[in-house]
Amino acid sequence: MIRVTENFRIIQDLLANAALDAGRPAKSVCLLAVSKRKPLEAILEALAAGQRDFGENFVQEGLAKIEETANNDIIWHFIGHLQANKSRPVAEHFHWVHTVDRLKIAQRLSRQRPYYADDLNICIQVNIDREEGKSGVMVEDLAELAHAIAPLPRLRLRGLMCIPAVQETLEEQRKPFAKLRKELEALTKSGLNLDTLSMGMTADYAAAIHEGATIVRIGTALFGKRE
Ligand SMILES: *Cc1c(COP(=O)(O)O)cnc(C)c1O
Repeated sequence: MIRVTENFRIIQDLLANAALDAGRPAKSVCLLAVSKRKPLEAILEALAAGQRDFGENFVQEGLAKIEETANNDIIWHFIGHLQANKSRPVAEHFHWVHTVDRLKIAQRLSRQRPYYADDLNICIQVNIDREEGKSGVMVEDLAELAHAIAPLPRLRLRGLMCIPAVQETLEEQRKPFAKLRKELEALTKSGLNLDTLSMGMTADYAAAIHEGATIVRIGTALFGKRE
């Protein structure tokens, strides 16, 4: 049995300490609980402990969990690779999408977001380490994409997201996160109103917080290893 409640408290402390270490307010980092491939009971336990933001990678699995927890006040984040033909249910049922990396997907989400819902929060995924076969826009194409997405109706462009290559040391882990922060600063200077850096997971959250992460996406440390 994984002790989600206990893990939740431990992680909250770790995140708060990492923030203080970085000279940031403890509350400036939002914990996104990544519940992919974990059962509903795990989500309910985290929810009971006080967690509100949950992240899912797969459309069908996410939709099922959203339906099963409909009576709760959960903020749902889509953090997986999004295929164009599956954008509609994501536009209809999630509050955030962290993985937009091309205009076509943003345009579809904009068209498909229901008029009665709040604007859908969007992060652009950046392929920060220029890895082959990895999702994300390359930095040289980022500004054009961001300025094309920002004016789309029913979307609110919030910031940037990345999943860097695995590094062993804190110092190496910080480099790609620092790069993403600089990209966000450049976009802000160019007139966009952005406030979100979605970066850092179980293995590298401390490095990400040092470089300004506002959302860290934590799965394993909270729910245990995935099958
Ligand atoms: C699975 C996943 C996570 C969580 O990873 P852990 O190492 O289990 O904390 C975070 N972000 C994305 C995009 C993921 O797919």
